[in-house]
Amino acid sequence: MEMIRIPKDIFEGMVEHAKKESPLECCGILGGKGETVQRAFELQNAEKSPIRFSISPQEQLKFFDEIERHSIEMIAIYHSHPDSIPFPSETDVKMAFYPEMSSVIISLKERDNPVVKAFRIKKEAIRLEEIEVI
Ligand SMILES: [Zn+2]
Repeated sequence: MEMIRIPKDIFEGMVEHAKKESPLECCGILGGKGETVQRAFELQNAEKSPIRFSISPQEQLKFFDEIERHSIEMIAIYHSHPDSIPFPSETDVKMAFYPEMSSVIISLKERDNPVVKAFRIKKEAIRLEEIEVI
């Protein structure tokens, strides 16, 4: 099983981001080295939708600079499911253009108990990844 290691403050920051944008989906990028996340970039959901997200090219430019400056890699894309389970939707599978990156999903279906899961989405299969909060 592949895994992704996320520092506690970044993990909690993603959940806060999801709550702040709810009932719309939030999205962002996690950058770091290897399997360890070092920085999170909160991005605008260009769709402004409760069931899908996309990242505009302008938004992408913002973190490409940062990624280069800190010489880190893009490890994962995260987004929230304000009202559904933490599993990739049909749209998520269709829109998964980066099979080498993890997809982290924050589910707020149970408002008081947000659930965060990571997946590797490929056209033929969706694999669960382990998240270690460090
Ligand atoms: Zn989704």
